[in-house]
Amino acid sequence: MSGPDDRIPALLARFGHTGFRPGQEAAVTAALAGRDVLAVMPTGAGKSLCYQLPALASEGLTLVVSPLVALMDDQISSLQHVAPGEVAAVHGLRDPEENDYALEQAAEGKLRLLYLAPERLANARATSALKACKLERVVVDEAHCVSSWGHDFRPDYFRLGEAARRLGADRISAFTATATDQVTEDIARRLGLSEPEVIRTGFNRPNISLTAMTCQGRPDEDACLKQLLEAPQSRPAIIYAGTRKQTGEVAKMLKKHLGVRVEAYHAGLERKSRGEIQRRFMGGETEIVVATNAFGMGVDKADVRTVVHVAVPGSLEALYQEAGRGGRDGLPSRAVLLAEPRDRSLHVHFIKSATVEDDQLKSLVRLLREAADDRGLAKITARSAAGACGGGSERATAALGHLAFAGVLTPIPSPPGEVSVRLSGELDEAALARSRAAARDAEKLRWRRYNEVWGYVDGETCRRQAVLDHFGDKREAVSEGPCCDVCDKSLVPKGAPAGAAGTRAKGGPRRVVVSAEDVDGLEAALLATVRDATPTVGRTRLVEIMRGSQSKSLLSSGQDGLEHYGEYSHLSKDIVLTVVDDTITAGRLVSTGGSYPKLKLAA
Ligand code: ADP
Repeated sequence: MSGPDDRIPALLARFGHTGFRPGQEAAVTAALAGRDVLAVMPTGAGKSLCYQLPALASEGLTLVVSPLVALMDDQISSLQHVAPGEVAAVHGLRDPEENDYALEQAAEGKLRLLYLAPERLANARATSALKACKLERVVVDEAHCVSSWGHDFRPDYFRLGEAARRLGADRISAFTATATDQVTEDIARRLGLSEPEVIRTGFNRPNISLTAMTCQGRPDEDACLKQLLEAPQSRPAIIYAGTRKQTGEVAKMLKKHLGVRVEAYHAGLERKSRGEIQRRFMGGETEIVVATNAFGMGVDKADVRTVVHVAVPGSLEALYQEAGRGGRDGLPSRAVLLAEPRDRSLHVHFIKSATVEDDQLKSLVRLLREAADDRGLAKITARSAAGACGGGSERATAALGHLAFAGVLTPIPSPPGEVSVRLSGELDEAALARSRAAARDAEKLRWRRYNEVWGYVDGETCRRQAVLDHFGDKREAVSEGPCCDVCDKSLVPKGAPAGAAGTRAKGGPRRVVVSAEDVDGLEAALLATVRDATPTVGRTRLVEIMRGSQSKSLLSSGQDGLEHYGEYSHLSKDIVLTVVDDTITAGRLVSTGGSYPKLKLAA
């Protein structure tokens, strides 16, 4: 009988390929030799083949765990030509009967590849069917989600390594497009990979040009968008918006202006409509999709010519991953980031709203204890978890992560809207201190991401080089067309706002770096200023004092003599105002209300 390696050329041909792309051969060979694999390859590099080919060459079942449910169905339909009847998926967007049928097929040994949404690992029906299978390997796609250092850590990914071993998988492969060294090490540790073959291909996408510019508000941004997408060859395009509301607004504006089919996509739409929008985009009927980050997961559309962000993502990893959905066919494509000063204050707000206080940790644990059965298993709604943490789902997710780190609980994969954990320890003083330390680290990490992504936006050096440096890729930052707006001014849309790098005058806006310490000190300074200011001040005046405004009325009232006057001139108005508003929301400052509301200290 021929060895598996001899089968590679025939299998490659079944996939319709004539050779491997960088990194693929090493991943396939290691998997065929029965080794664990950890591959860090950029979007579009061809990660799927790295596990699909070995899966088809083996006799057992390869289980692919992925949070990207929308992607699964595309993968399966394209694999039906390669391996008819040997591939299926189990996830919440399919009918229960379809899911049951797929599990039956798997248990009967008829499948080579089964795609599974992570929360299914908590489902008894799914796990018992899987235990009956001859499990060859578990593949963890988007593996950065297992790492609390990753930009979209998911508690339901937390114990994936353990879940895989429980199912009897001896071998694990992990794939991600967005891992720094720290995340890579964390992935290997959390999944318990054993001497994995580590593959890192370059992060450069030479056919994608990179542009970033700061717009002064929505009209400015709309004007840029219209210009960027005017030419038919700039489409198909994906526009990433910050909110669901914005997807609708931008889609409407572009449709009116361009007269082509533009659709809005976000997780709040019915599952059926989401599927239809995606299908129309894949099929070329819809030229532009304006979406939240819920879209794209499944977009294996090779000919996307433009990806525009009209809101700055929370990390450079997220930005580059989404931008990387353009130009998978290797032809020229553009990634454009349109920032707004408002995005910056929103980020500050999100970072602050994920900060967890001791009493929130305590009330979350109390709630879980009340819900726990005698084995310590607790299931509560995500809404009540958020309630215990002062209302924010971001904060509840963060709190669960900190408590897990401190050994107080173990998250169990659970469907969206639900939180399941196993309580594993007391929240005593020592555990509280460990949780606090985890919370501090998490906050530092968020500020680091903030500084990285805004460093990119405000950067005045080659953007490609900045990205490669960020990912620790030492290779040369070469491009196949125009590189970036810093290197090539032709990339800046004509009439672009003054903030665009290509139009920025020397000595223009400088890079603003904000740290946790900055903002922490700011709140204390705000309180002292409100206490000391005469006459009393409102929100706007308070911001002016902190930023050292030279306004006539401020100077004539002598408020420039206040202790903290001008101390925060390096922060934007939006950031300072966000912290003022957060301090009011937290009840440490009180607004008197009325037509000219003033601020006072809480009683
Ligand atoms: P990733 O998961 O890394 O983002 P995919 O696995 O979706 O990338 O692959 C991206 C595209 O590249 C797909 O259209 C795929 O068919 C194509 N591709 C993958 N491997 C090869 C290869 N060896 N030769 C040619 N095309 C390939």
